[in-house]
Amino acid sequence: MKLVILDRDGTLNEDRADYVKSPDEWVPLPGALEAVARLNHAGWHVVIASNQSGLGRGLFDVSTLNAMHAKMHKLLAAVGGKVDAVFYCPHAPEEHCHCRKPEPGLFEQIGERYGIDLPGVPVVGDTWRDLIAGAAVGCEPHLVLTGKGAAYRTRKLPQAFPKTTQVHASLAAFADFLIAREAAKA
Ligand SMILES: [Mg+2]
Ligand SMILES: [Zn+2]
Repeated sequence: MKLVILDRDGTLNEDRADYVKSPDEWVPLPGALEAVARLNHAGWHVVIASNQSGLGRGLFDVSTLNAMHAKMHKLLAAVGGKVDAVFYCPHAPEEHCHCRKPEPGLFEQIGERYGIDLPGVPVVGDTWRDLIAGAAVGCEPHLVLTGKGAAYRTRKLPQAFPKTTQVHASLAAFADFLIAREAAKA
């Protein structure tokens, strides 16, 4: 099974300093939904691993989060794309859970659910937290320069990032990269 693990806010949809708290605030990044569709058509399953501390902070509830994801699935379906599942951490930082990235718990859940070996599975995110969490279980780290990643358009990556981090302008650019790499192998 070909699997890609995506961060959500800042990678697939616009991030907000005050958290994405409602379906109206869930706004896809340009070309991001189409990028998922292109990956799907090339045989990749896509799942999301997302910190949603807004739940633990009481900013929104699970039914609102489900409504955001219903919007996401609907917008994806309209362009022929699909996210298989959303894995999220509902905790606030002070709960010190094992699933809030940069901890690897969400990735371990994904590995168990799909019964796959995580080493080599591409992980895509806009922060070091996403990539450290994935790299801890052997995933291949890819940074997108959208969301919080936009800060690195003009700056070197700090040491907090995994050494093997590959950088792409956007999720669309990452999809093009992955599909071209696969095609070159064939
Ligand atoms: Mg993010
Ligand atoms: Zn958690």
